[in-house]
Amino acid sequence: MARGFEPAYVQLGTDELKRRVAEAYARLEACDLCPRECGVNRRESARGAGCHTGERALVSSAGPHFGEEAPLVGRGGSGTIFFTWCNLACQYCQNADISQLGHGQEVEPEELAQLMLSVQAQGCHNVNLVSPSHVVPQILAALLIATEAGLRLPLVYNTGGYDSLKTLALLDGVVDIYMPDMKYAQPEPALRYSKVQHYPQVNQAAVQEMHRQVGDLVLDDRGVAQRGLLVRHLVLPGDLAGTAEIVRFLREKISPHTYINVMDQYRPCYRAHELPPLNRRIMAEEYARAAQLAQGADLRLDERPSRLRGF
Ligand code: SF4
Repeated sequence: MARGFEPAYVQLGTDELKRRVAEAYARLEACDLCPRECGVNRRESARGAGCHTGERALVSSAGPHFGEEAPLVGRGGSGTIFFTWCNLACQYCQNADISQLGHGQEVEPEELAQLMLSVQAQGCHNVNLVSPSHVVPQILAALLIATEAGLRLPLVYNTGGYDSLKTLALLDGVVDIYMPDMKYAQPEPALRYSKVQHYPQVNQAAVQEMHRQVGDLVLDDRGVAQRGLLVRHLVLPGDLAGTAEIVRFLREKISPHTYINVMDQYRPCYRAHELPPLNRRIMAEEYARAAQLAQGADLRLDERPSRLRGF
């Protein structure tokens, strides 16, 4: 942890954090935590919830992870906590056993707090909450406990990007680093391949709000992220993701200093083999075009070695 760094949630204070926990749990009773707005009472059961999750969060794994972007990994790794289930239903998800089939264990807020403290004790640079959108109340409750027990790492909200503005308001002054996906620029592929309505509209409004809260990505003198926005964009076969539009949006509506990871690792998983063109990997020229679009817009491009980066 950089000297002098104080995470947003510590600055916010425990009284306000308690208020956010209460407000977030109240919303579970007719759940509208994400834009699916299922309206079910998750305090009673998970029945009818698009995210299959009731009052308790489920976690599939937690610990240091070295496969994330360099500013999150540093030397100590990113302290990932993978939540089970998801508010998206991507038919090509590479973690479908976790996100779509429900592999994981229910945890109480006290146990989730212990996982946060455990990645700090292991020397990780951040707590990286993977697929958090449907478990914001449980995260806030755990964060309150962990903060009182000495958690001081930056909090990373690592989301598929289908987040409601009302829920992001609960996270204002809580999250240090937002890491949203921008998966699609058009609604049709989002509906067909991830089973959600209005993804581009929801996603772009969410990214604007995230940037308003935390600004551009700020690194410390070791190159480790402290605060800000880091966008992920997975290049899909046949340009289903709409890279040019997403890059233009970031440049014109967010900031020319936006940090973006244009990802090349798409491979057909889960049900993708039934859904051409998702039944193949991307070609080198498809990736080169996407990366060149981001470079051409002068965005801050994550520079990890790429399987397909041959230009
Ligand atoms: S968080 Fe789950 S139950 Fe709530 S609106 Fe989203 S998908 Fe539905």
